[in-house]
Amino acid sequence: MTVAARGFLDLVADLRSVADRDASGVTDPIALPAVPGGYLLLARLATALPLEVAGLPAATLPADWYVYAGSARGPGGIRARAGRHLRRGKRPHWHVDYLTEAAADLWVFAVPGGRECDLLRGLLARPAFDTALAGFGSSDCRLCVSHLLAVRPGDVRQDRHRPEPGRRRTGAQFK
Ligand SMILES: [Zn+2]
Repeated sequence: MTVAARGFLDLVADLRSVADRDASGVTDPIALPAVPGGYLLLARLATALPLEVAGLPAATLPADWYVYAGSARGPGGIRARAGRHLRRGKRPHWHVDYLTEAAADLWVFAVPGGRECDLLRGLLARPAFDTALAGFGSSDCRLCVSHLLAVRPGDVRQDRHRPEPGRRRTGAQFK
């Protein structure tokens, strides 16, 4: 899969606009701040991911780009929580563990002092993002339909030939 460079930069710019203008995508936990706050996790699935997970209907996430929003209030803050996402070989416990274990690429954008639901609201106001799977990561959230968003494929893929079954075809997304 080839990533359209401009599309990817636009995506990162969108994440920074709701996170922190200076936030950079981190792949090494040591580079994350050990303070409380929120974070955005950008993940690329190179192949479809079937999910049979407690608390969710059976579903398949198509190969696509995803953004998960989380928060870390415990000891070690964002570094401890998001660092877990970046580590491979976890025993899945949270919904997001299934995504991070399967992802071909992962980046974390730390948002010290931020809240995940606010970050999600900011992203959903932009046309490039849509709810990926209702209930994912949001079992204990009363505000959000999901804490996982899909990035509409036309925005980041160069070699897109056909939309995934069931995906919306809107506007200029599929030229
Ligand atoms: Zn929420």
